[in-house]
Amino acid sequence: MDGVETDFEKLIQLQELDNALRQITAELSDIPRLIEQVESKIKADSDLVARSKERLAQNQKKRRDLESEVKDLKAQVTKYKRQLNEVKTNKEYTSLLKEIQETQDKIDRLEEKIIEELLVADEIEEEIRTASLKQKNEEEHLKQEISALNQRKQSLEAEKSQLLKKKEELVPGIPKPQLQLYLSIARKRGGIALSRVIDEFCSMCQLRIRPQMLNEIRDRSKIHLCESCGRILYFDHSEESREEAEESSR
Ligand SMILES: [Zn+2]
Repeated sequence: MDGVETDFEKLIQLQELDNALRQITAELSDIPRLIEQVESKIKADSDLVARSKERLAQNQKKRRDLESEVKDLKAQVTKYKRQLNEVKTNKEYTSLLKEIQETQDKIDRLEEKIIEELLVADEIEEEIRTASLKQKNEEEHLKQEISALNQRKQSLEAEKSQLLKKKEELVPGIPKPQLQLYLSIARKRGGIALSRVIDEFCSMCQLRIRPQMLNEIRDRSKIHLCESCGRILYFDHSEESREEAEESSR
């Protein structure tokens, strides 16, 4: 790094831009998943209504089938009753009466079943009402959530392109070897190449910095890398003077 003065201010700005960009990129990449979650809630609500309606349709079909079975059996009874007038023997008569009684019993059982199915239909209709109401109440709100997420996406994208523009303007002003050092550390260290020194410690890994090194970092005469995490150490002088001002005002 000899010969070229280290431009800490620009490196710090670069790190701040990169941090902001990393955060925005992470938030942006999460938005499709969040939208999908809301969409699946909308779908779950409408599926609930659709399933209940399907059950009602099945119930109606079942009742129709039972009713037509009853109708057939009633026709059968009428037929048997007509035959009663035509039988010749007592035995035939008795057996026909038995036939009629059995058929009538069957009709009674089926009619009971129809009533049961009618009660089920009432329950299903209530279910449909409840599910439709839930759908109606939630849909508006969920659609608003989606549009809020889309708006957030747009504003993040706008912010991102602004930051990228600032970065484009900043980078050419940084001496090349310093930029390369920054980039190679950032690549290895999760995008964070710089570490602020706070109270004699590297703020990223908490290593205590030797006093002699501390002075050189403080006057920014030379680049020092943290001996533990390998990041470029720096003092934030603006922060320091603010803290000092706070101290003296107490
Ligand atoms: Zn460190």
